[in-house]
Amino acid sequence: MRAQRTIEILEALVGFDTTSRNSNLALVEWIEAYLDRVGVAHERITDETGIKANVWATIGPLGVPGTILSGHTDVVPVDGQSWSTDPFRLTERNGRLYARGAADMKGFDACCLAAVPDIVAARLARPIHLALSYDEEVGCVGVRGVIARLERGKVKPAACFVGEPTEMGVVIGHKGQRSFRVTVHGKSCHSSLAPHGVNAVEYAARLIVKIRDIGDRLARSGARDPLYDVPYTTANSGVVHGGTAFNIVPDLCTFEFEFRPLAVDDVDGLVEEVVAYGRERLEPEMQAIDPAARITFEPKSSWPGLEAPAASDIVRLAKTLAGRNEHSKVAYGTEAGLFASSGIPAVVIGPGSIEQAHKADEYIAVAQLEACSAFLDQLTMHSCA
Ligand SMILES: [Zn+2]
Repeated sequence: MRAQRTIEILEALVGFDTTSRNSNLALVEWIEAYLDRVGVAHERITDETGIKANVWATIGPLGVPGTILSGHTDVVPVDGQSWSTDPFRLTERNGRLYARGAADMKGFDACCLAAVPDIVAARLARPIHLALSYDEEVGCVGVRGVIARLERGKVKPAACFVGEPTEMGVVIGHKGQRSFRVTVHGKSCHSSLAPHGVNAVEYAARLIVKIRDIGDRLARSGARDPLYDVPYTTANSGVVHGGTAFNIVPDLCTFEFEFRPLAVDDVDGLVEEVVAYGRERLEPEMQAIDPAARITFEPKSSWPGLEAPAASDIVRLAKTLAGRNEHSKVAYGTEAGLFASSGIPAVVIGPGSIEQAHKADEYIAVAQLEACSAFLDQLTMHSCA
């Protein structure tokens, strides 16, 4: 009954194309109508444009610290991916349910929504909250509105479970992230007169090499956390755009870079090192040729890392509810770092595998949905005592 309901809800959720660039309001309306049917009050927390919204709902008593179940409603694009099934239609094959978002993370959302009638019937002593956000995949944007609302409230929730796919393993840490868009403004001229121009692509390249050097230094001698696959802070330069022809000195080049720091590393200091190289080393050379030449750094995205102490109450609780003894850390970022930074202890635990996330033919195993439902039943019981 509950398993069937979970799959039906998942089928409905994946039917909405909530790629982050789209509005998620049709999906939000579906969730609101469902919560109305099961008698749970809900609240919309919209973005400034009004085309995207988080859904916040509380089951159980108000005014008592409870537990947040946090999921996101947006998904990554299917552009350029080769799917064997329609990514926006749930397809079952050999105990696996295929669709965009099945694992990341409408599967968790569906488990939570399907559990609501049982949670309502359980007469909780402490509330369970649903926080379903927008724009997680583009930098954990939407959930910040939920957290701002919680910070205005009188009672701070006691715990938060973020249901990103961990195969129901208890994830106590993840790295943070800080990214920038860099624009190098040079001076154009005919390539035969190259020294008269300021080659924006070349100065961008020197900055990119500097970022790589910092990354190499961190890999060689930076802080270590063996619970991560890559046990040190990383640096990466992504998209680069610049130039129009081999015989024109380019006057413009843009690129994006990021750091993914361990909690112990000072990411501000790393960013400052890159900016200082641009300001003190490159700009004086550029401006000797053209005083208007310059480099600008524009913050793009950032989220804090998560570092829940292994001996903390939230980690113990997650292990008890999931029936697990071990914990791990993951490379990808989640909303958990933001909840933890606002003083709400958080861990990541959810159904499905990150191996399937963001790929063509994304799927979640039915057994994973069942394991998540069992976890939610344990949480419900725990919230009654
Ligand atoms: Zn996700």
